[in-house]
Amino acid sequence: MDLSTQISFIKGIGEKRGAVLNELGIVTVENLLHHFPRRYLDRSNILTISKIRIDENVTIVGRVTGHQVKRGRKGRSWLDVVIADETGFLTCRWFHGVQWLQKRFEKDMTIAVSGKVEFFGGFQILHPDFDILSDDTSNPINTGIIVPLYPSTHALQKMGFDSRGFRRILKPIIDANIDKIVDYFSAEFLTKNQLISLNDAIHSIHFPESEEGLQAAQRRLKFDELFFLQLVLAVRKQHFADREKQHQYASTGEILAQQYKRITFKLTHAQERVVREIWDDLKSPHPMNRLLQGDVGSGKTVVSFLAVAIVVGNGYQAALMAPTEILAEQHYKSAIEFFKGSDIRPVLITGSLTAAQKRDTNIALKNGYFHLAIGTHALIQSKVTFKNLRFVIIDEQHRFGVMQRGALLKKGEDVDILVMTATPIPRTLSMTLYGDLSSSIIDELPANRQPIITRKVDPNALDKVYGYARDQLDKGRQVFVVYPLIEDSEKMDLKAATQGFDTLSHVFSPYKVVLLHGRMSAIEKEEIMNLFSQNRIQVLVSTTVIEVGIDIPNATLMIIENAERFGLAQLHQLRGRIGRGEHRSVCVLVERKPTEDSQFRLGVMTTTTDGFVIAEEDLKLRGSGDIFGTKQHGLPQLKIANLLFDRDLLFEARKVAFDMIKQDPHLRKEHHQRLRENFLKDYSDTVEMVSIS
Ligand code: ADP
Ligand code: MG
Repeated sequence: MDLSTQISFIKGIGEKRGAVLNELGIVTVENLLHHFPRRYLDRSNILTISKIRIDENVTIVGRVTGHQVKRGRKGRSWLDVVIADETGFLTCRWFHGVQWLQKRFEKDMTIAVSGKVEFFGGFQILHPDFDILSDDTSNPINTGIIVPLYPSTHALQKMGFDSRGFRRILKPIIDANIDKIVDYFSAEFLTKNQLISLNDAIHSIHFPESEEGLQAAQRRLKFDELFFLQLVLAVRKQHFADREKQHQYASTGEILAQQYKRITFKLTHAQERVVREIWDDLKSPHPMNRLLQGDVGSGKTVVSFLAVAIVVGNGYQAALMAPTEILAEQHYKSAIEFFKGSDIRPVLITGSLTAAQKRDTNIALKNGYFHLAIGTHALIQSKVTFKNLRFVIIDEQHRFGVMQRGALLKKGEDVDILVMTATPIPRTLSMTLYGDLSSSIIDELPANRQPIITRKVDPNALDKVYGYARDQLDKGRQVFVVYPLIEDSEKMDLKAATQGFDTLSHVFSPYKVVLLHGRMSAIEKEEIMNLFSQNRIQVLVSTTVIEVGIDIPNATLMIIENAERFGLAQLHQLRGRIGRGEHRSVCVLVERKPTEDSQFRLGVMTTTTDGFVIAEEDLKLRGSGDIFGTKQHGLPQLKIANLLFDRDLLFEARKVAFDMIKQDPHLRKEHHQRLRENFLKDYSDTVEMVSIS
């Protein structure tokens, strides 16, 4: 047996049990050693039953004193398991998997349960997380043994792979293989970065002997995960830096100079800085790969148009890809307006062009008549060809896959890329998801902008709110009213929105009130948005389908109904629809069923409009869930490290990885050989197109 041995061949596991593990990605001995506990029981996080309080999340270790399936009326059954420690009794109750679960418990076995405490005539936990501890030499509370608990699924438990089962099969495997693990880091590297060796870490993560040992093991394994993730990004970035552009920029050009004279406003410092950053990239010998972040209305589009002026001024073509037709059209209109009187000819390419229009625009693009192609993913269709596309702007990047981005890039040569997003991303996240891009941030709103005032109200205050809305309408302004629509309760939500719409039609008569919801066809929705943007509709009642990025400067009030049901990021996105013009804008959050969480969220909304602050708070609230979306971005998933809690380590690992690639871009130096092999073995498919092999 060695590290590459398939676990199904191992005595005590076998084919059937092996298959269940294979499904979790555990195929080899090495995989098994990297299947880490999800948490640990130790003295510091176990409570005695007398100390528990209602609504708290606790872990209790106790002896099973009895278990019984009970039946209610209507044939509903549940399982009660009562456990006891020296200080009291606690009932654990399950409503699901009752028959199967009951077989798991035996009187007098020691179990650990975790969950939220409730009180129904006695303390109880509903559907607790549980682990059977009986075979551990003795009670962890008394001995101080740290007991690892492994992630478990129904299928695993059925095969005996609860935590106890894992510990049992792991012990001999670890003992036999731990010395075969070869560290890819040198002793010198480990000392410098305060890391323990890989075999010590693997050993202690599964069989910790002390809290300190466990922490050192976690630090090492988290570091490795974050380090390799950052190494992927560093290599990708290096790959761009390795390429030489064929085209060159002589100067920023005449068109930009003229364009500057035409702008009626003063650029913010942030905008000026970003234009300089883009110019530095354009004239560098390597292709640009830059992310531009900034709140809605911060002036990203204007900046990207200035870059287009440089590109076209040097004789090249540019393209701007937006996620929806309506956004593409809006960009197109802004471009026409912005470049009026200049030599730049923009063209709109969307799916709704007729065949004849498509043919004509394609010809005109190909012979260089048009300089800037603006469109949806229709841009990446095979018939669209350019004379000399050298600059691509991608708006609202998170909606495009890596593939679509690639398809557009192939239409030009050594294309410089600017990715724009109005969804602020916390630094830890952007450093990971976009860690291979250079980053520009517009963190300053144009001076003529008035801050949006946000107020939280309860339903009693609605009369006053409607009075204010009427005032705004009388002044010629427009109003958004937003209702939540969650898939699970779509029918009821739609009803609430429809009823709200009926009421508001009365309240605001004779102003035109229209309902927009997700079940309408794209054409209907677009029609309504167009009428609203022309002020032929004054009040838009909608479920949350208002397009990101849509610009209606005359809308100065947004009323968000049942605001407690929206997430922070969503609220921020919605609020960004207003405050885009010269008039003072107000956002009213109507809170109907406050919870502790919602009060916090709405509190954040009323105290800041800074998208980055909101994004950080959002990340804290959501914890380490799938929002990290590393997989979706084609990056390795994190198993043990957490971008939220391991921030400092992330920064450390990033620096080490990027420094390493800077000094040894292709990891060809002798002392990096083992590291390189390991990297290629585990990460080559995530590096994509990259050539360090
Ligand atoms: P974003 O793309 O970040 O949402 P835009 O570039 O579309 O922002 O700008 C939003 C609006 O603000 C546009 O009408 C634009 O003309 C205007 N604008 C941009 N920069 C400035 C500025 N520095 N001063 C005043 N208005 C500006
Ligand atoms: Mg924009």
